[in-house]
Amino acid sequence: MPPRDRLLNPEATGAARSLLYSDKGGPMSNPTSPELEAKWRSLLLEGHTLRWLHAFFRHMPSEPRCKLCYNPFGGVGGKVVGLFGFSPSPKNPNVCSACCDRLPPGGAEIDIAVLFADVRGSTRLAERMTAKEFAELMNRFYLAATRALVKHDAIIDKLIGDEVMALFIPGIAGKQYRCRAARAATDLLEAFGYGSESEPWLDVGVGVHAGPAYVGNVGADGMVDLTALGDAVNTAARLQGLAKGGEAVLGESVYAEVRDRHPDLPRQEVTVTGKTEPLAIRTLRLT
Ligand SMILES: [Zn+2]
Repeated sequence: MPPRDRLLNPEATGAARSLLYSDKGGPMSNPTSPELEAKWRSLLLEGHTLRWLHAFFRHMPSEPRCKLCYNPFGGVGGKVVGLFGFSPSPKNPNVCSACCDRLPPGGAEIDIAVLFADVRGSTRLAERMTAKEFAELMNRFYLAATRALVKHDAIIDKLIGDEVMALFIPGIAGKQYRCRAARAATDLLEAFGYGSESEPWLDVGVGVHAGPAYVGNVGADGMVDLTALGDAVNTAARLQGLAKGGEAVLGESVYAEVRDRHPDLPRQEVTVTGKTEPLAIRTLRLT
C-alpha cells in the first residue's frame, strides 16, 4: 500500500487508535484519563518549555532532529546537546529523551493546521535517473521543505517517499497557527523556485487544512510516535492531491487567515474522496 493510502486507510490506523483507547498496562496505560488529557491539552495549546526550545534549537546544526523541540541529533550540534540528555529516545527515535520523558501517555483533541507537500511526477523522475540520484533529489526536497516549514515553527511529522507532512500546533506555532501554515505553504513553494524569474527546480504541490485532530503518542509495544490523527489530517492530504505544481490548495478557514495578502482567490466547492459533504477551497498559485 502506498504511504499516503496507508495513512488514510482507517484500518491501517485502527490498531494504533484502539491502543490509545485501551486500558491495558504498560507505558500506554489508561491514556484517556481526564488528567492526562488535560496535561496534553495544556502542553499542546500553551506549549510550556517546548516553544522556546523549538525556537532555540532551530539555529543549531545538524539534521536529523527531535520532532518536538527541533534539537539536532546529528553533527556537531547533536554531540553538544547529547551531553545534556537531548539524545534520541529509545521509545521514539524521532523525539529526544528529554521531550519523550516530559510527554504523558495518550494525547488530546485540539484544533491544528496540517500541511502536506508532495513532489509531482516523482515516478517519472525516478525512471529517468539512477536510484542514488533520485535519493539525492529527495534529500534536497526534504531539506528545502523542512527549512521553509520550521521557519514557521511547524512540527515535521513525516517524511514519506516524495511527501512531507507537517503540523502547526498552537503551543509551538502560536495562536496564529492557521495563518503560519498558509504562509509556510507559500514559502515552501518559493523554496522550489515558484514565484520567481527562474524555473522551479522541482514540481511541488501543497494542501493545507485546519480542524480538530487527535494529537499525541500513538504506537504499540513500547514504541510510540508523536503524530496527529483525524479528519483534518485526511482532508489536508486530499487537498494536496488536488494541487498542481506551484499551487497551494487551502481549506476555507485557512484562507480566511491570509485573505488580506491574497484577496480575490475564487471560492470553489469540491467533493474529495471519502467525504460526503462538499468542501470549500481556495487555490493559491505561484507562477
Ligand atoms: Zn526534543
